[in-house]
Amino acid sequence: MINLIFLGPPGAGKGTQSARIIDEYKIVQISTGDLLRAAVKAGTPLGKEAKVYMDGGQLVPDSLIINMMKERFESDDCQNGFILDGFPRTTAQAVALDEMLQNELKTSVTHIISLEVDDEVVVKRNTGRRVCPSCGATYHIKFNPPKDGGKCDKDGETLVHRDDDQEETIRKRLGVYHDTTSLLKDYYSKSGKFFELSGDDHPDKVYSKIKEILG
Ligand code: ADP
Ligand code: ADP
Repeated sequence: MINLIFLGPPGAGKGTQSARIIDEYKIVQISTGDLLRAAVKAGTPLGKEAKVYMDGGQLVPDSLIINMMKERFESDDCQNGFILDGFPRTTAQAVALDEMLQNELKTSVTHIISLEVDDEVVVKRNTGRRVCPSCGATYHIKFNPPKDGGKCDKDGETLVHRDDDQEETIRKRLGVYHDTTSLLKDYYSKSGKFFELSGDDHPDKVYSKIKEILG
């Protein structure tokens, strides 16, 4: 059973690696960023509230995120294992996650992998990131370009540049990461399930190291 948390700054490669893992290990990926962007697109009350924080590069308040995750865990597709990409991001979220898993799913986190990437690399990765609005596939204009210009390799949709992937907002998100989310490494480091990996290498190399950890 794999119940994995991915930590790492915005652009570390969490989504890219998650896509490979879910294909091979047949578990689900839960990305709070993707769930929030879907809520923004659908114009739900959550989406309207969250958009202001997201566009400003700030974290969406814990209560909104925790309620959203409680609802997500109610789907029975989580029973065979999951990857959490972008959650938890604060200690309050980490504590709430432990409770949710214990009480509702009778399970716990099995691995925490922190992808380490330098700030300047992160800025280059995020400014060049392009995503498919339909299937969520992630590309990079230089490091992982789509085969056909601006279209998704999988479904041909026109790729988009995320609203928050502008340099100024990326630097704010990085600040939030260093001030808040990176502190979670301390929360998890003594658990015996915590692994730090360089996310600087080629995606294939990063993935083979992840597979060594997951077994
Ligand atoms: P990245 O993949 O670049 O790290 P995400 O897609 O995970 O970015 O998140 C985009 C934005 O969504 C964040 O900047 C934040 O505003 C919001 N967000 C996503 N997950 C969380 C979370 N767990 N807690 C608070 N805010 C979140
Ligand atoms: P995260 O989910 O951590 O925010 P992504 O997986 O969306 O990160 O990756 C951010 C950007 O960097 C994307 O454009 C992606 O194609 C690119 N990328 C991901 N991993 C690597 C890597 N190992 N080397 C170079 N570029 C990468």
